[in-house]
Amino acid sequence: MKSSPEATDARLREALEATGHRFTEQRAAVYRFLSGATSHPNADEVFQEVRGLVPGISLATVYKSLETLVNCGLAAKLTYSDGSARYDARMDLHHHARCLSCGRVMDIPGLLLGEEIESLTRGLDGFSVLGYRLELTGFCANCSPHQHMSESAGPMN
Ligand code: ZN
Ligand code: MN
Repeated sequence: MKSSPEATDARLREALEATGHRFTEQRAAVYRFLSGATSHPNADEVFQEVRGLVPGISLATVYKSLETLVNCGLAAKLTYSDGSARYDARMDLHHHARCLSCGRVMDIPGLLLGEEIESLTRGLDGFSVLGYRLELTGFCANCSPHQHMSESAGPMN
């Protein structure tokens, strides 16, 4: 979903003020980039993008800005068992596919619905589902073992 820079700033300002935070240029730069990104960047990738736009911004400030966005409901933090984290400004329910080779995280077009989730817990006595997270893991088109096999059969460049 694309929205104008003005609409993005207005949404940020409203969410920050509703949670007692100030609107700052640093937070705005981070949110503008994240809301236009589909790559689920980590804090360092966000830093690399915004450092050219906001002179003097530090990685620590970027990290804190991202956490503020998460706290005011404008971004989701995707955490992984190796301790790494990626950020996503897309807040409607959707699932992710993660490449085990290059780490790329993609949105999945399809959606598992609530009733399908409930059917999974049938027979699980007394458990009420409040949320769920679905992540598909595998290899992206660039990293698929199949692709590597066909590449190595062809001429080297
Ligand atoms: Zn990959
Ligand atoms: Mn996503």
